[in-house]
Amino acid sequence: MVEFMDLSPVIECLRSARRVLFITGAGLSADSGLPTYRGVGGLYDRGPTDEGVPIEVMLGGRMMREDPAACWKYIGQIEEACRGAQPNAGHHAIARLEALLDEVWVLTQNVDGFHTRAGSSRVIEIHGDLHRLHCTACTWKNEVQDYAELTLPPSCPDCGALVRPAVVLFGEMLPVAAVGMLQRELARGFDLVVSVGTTSAFPYIADPVIRARHHRVPTVEINPGESEVSHLVDHRIQAGAAEMLSALLSGLESD
Ligand SMILES: [Zn+2]
Repeated sequence: MVEFMDLSPVIECLRSARRVLFITGAGLSADSGLPTYRGVGGLYDRGPTDEGVPIEVMLGGRMMREDPAACWKYIGQIEEACRGAQPNAGHHAIARLEALLDEVWVLTQNVDGFHTRAGSSRVIEIHGDLHRLHCTACTWKNEVQDYAELTLPPSCPDCGALVRPAVVLFGEMLPVAAVGMLQRELARGFDLVVSVGTTSAFPYIADPVIRARHHRVPTVEINPGESEVSHLVDHRIQAGAAEMLSALLSGLESD
């Protein structure tokens, strides 16, 4: 549908921007074939669990402490869905924009690590990354390609305590370092904020758009459906993430 949509106003915004913030969610990962879960990083939407307990409980910080095997079972399912999937044209388009603009930042809710894999260098993973593991008792940590070699729930090779992924489970705080980085960059300000493939249900995801609007900074949304910020943005593109990000990149590169 690209040919019927006039992207030139957005391309114009990109061309004159120095610092751009992309806010990404499950809709972008969906274009890599990942299911659009909700929950952890917008993950999980398969209805009730085998245990008959809401997924928010199974994927909760408390469950990780009290019944790690049960919690890991669902984390393992999410990882399995990501396994073999690759960053898509949308991730690559954002990464390639770094060569054309002064500073491109990504605030992502996705825990698949695809932005970094695609080559983006300024990524704020506000919900963490499934592939980073750490011990709950000592300083051991590791980064894995996937969980194929793991026995769930995994235990620390150094001390034997429980190992967990560096993702934000329900009821847990956002990672301090990521929040600090986000606050610092928001304070420095952006010239353009683009929300991609997210319903912006979390306040800290909607906030940069609201802030931008307050400061008369142009805002764009790329999302086929209605979101919490749809009514706020200057340019609303109701289409798929990968397709539209590629189209914006080619538009920018073509002149
Ligand atoms: Zn340990």
